[in-house]
Amino acid sequence: MRMLSTRGIAPAASISDAIAAGLAPDGGLYMPASLPSFTPADFDGADTLAQVAQRLLRPFFAGDALEGELAAICATAFAVEPPLRVFGEANDYILELFHGATAAFKDYGASFLAAALAALPRGDRPLTILVATSGDTGAAVGAAFHHKPGVRVAILYPDGRVSPRQAHQLGCFGDNVRAFRVDGSFDDCQKLVKTLLSDAAFKQDVPLGSANSISLGRLLPQMAYYAHAALGHWRAGGNPLNFVVPTGNLGNALACFLARSMGLPIGRLVLANNANDVLARFFEGGDYAPQASRTTLANAMDVGAPSNFERLQWLEPDAARLRAELSAESVSDDEIRATIVDAFQRHGEIVCPHTACAVRVLQRLRARGAVGDWAVVATAHPAKFPEVVEPLIGREVPLPAALAAMLARPSHAQPLAGDARALGDLLRVP
Ligand SMILES: *Cc1c(COP(=O)(O)O)cnc(C)c1O
Repeated sequence: MRMLSTRGIAPAASISDAIAAGLAPDGGLYMPASLPSFTPADFDGADTLAQVAQRLLRPFFAGDALEGELAAICATAFAVEPPLRVFGEANDYILELFHGATAAFKDYGASFLAAALAALPRGDRPLTILVATSGDTGAAVGAAFHHKPGVRVAILYPDGRVSPRQAHQLGCFGDNVRAFRVDGSFDDCQKLVKTLLSDAAFKQDVPLGSANSISLGRLLPQMAYYAHAALGHWRAGGNPLNFVVPTGNLGNALACFLARSMGLPIGRLVLANNANDVLARFFEGGDYAPQASRTTLANAMDVGAPSNFERLQWLEPDAARLRAELSAESVSDDEIRATIVDAFQRHGEIVCPHTACAVRVLQRLRARGAVGDWAVVATAHPAKFPEVVEPLIGREVPLPAALAAMLARPSHAQPLAGDARALGDLLRVP
């Protein structure tokens, strides 16, 4: 299938070219030219996450250089099955996407992208993967590419705006994975990446790829866990599953939206924002008005200008129709704290600050009379945010083994002014 740019100027690309490029040459984001449509019966016999992923993604890879590799890529990227389990009340569920290498949902998309890029033919110069991160992306991408031959990774994160544990993770890889702590916000990091990725002359010197959620190689595979969870739920009881998704740059929630558009048994989709409420304002009827990002307890969602909104608008340019299909609500830091305490005291559940936003939004929806089966999406393990969670619940959060191993390694990040020239010069050095 052909991939098109949201800006409509760049020529159509194959999916492997779109994955290798990250951003389209006209500065737009790649999207599939059409969305295939499925019924649940199309997935008969596909039970594991990897099997569901392969069937779901097959139409996008038809005729592509990676078509023959898709099964193997899915087997690598989707080896970890995310549990969907009851959360507190009957009909409330939690989909735990944090059982991968770095304990956040981004491990799925990052491993898919790394496996896809590793399967593509490479030139003799190494590919440099640029990744801006508000916390979790960088670690997931670092882990997915660490020691992969022919690829190096430059992680850019906002200095002082990620948790100490996240900062440690970002700097602990070494070898082909370098971390830069940028004097600025996440949006500044993202701007640096976009500037270099759209600089054709620079890319002649230094072949670049992207691993942000702007890369189709991360976005499309994220549909798989929604499809798998919704199909499992549908098979068990014949009901669609509604989702509340913690949302920052809108990559994870957009994947859910796409899966639903392709016919998977997904009901309502509600986005949970932190105090960065640009989407909540839009879906409540305001203009789409990007803002400077605000620092919150759910720092991986501190995004004032969510990149993937451009894709959503490309899919549905009519604001009224978009508002009929999706909604978004904003959650304050005080509510995040109260929700973490409440989930622990009432249900013995420990949730991370991002997941807490979704839990709070579901509580509001239920209070307003929402019926049916709803799943909140747990985007990270609470042990990644001990400085927020532990004082609230009054105990230590046990570390998953993979996270403990990473934190035991030494960590280093290089300081960087928010300046594309300076970064370009550093990257020219092999
Ligand atoms: C990245 C991240 C989010 C936001 O996901 P988007 O795809 O950017 O909307 C939410 N929670 C956690 C823990 C994250 O790491």
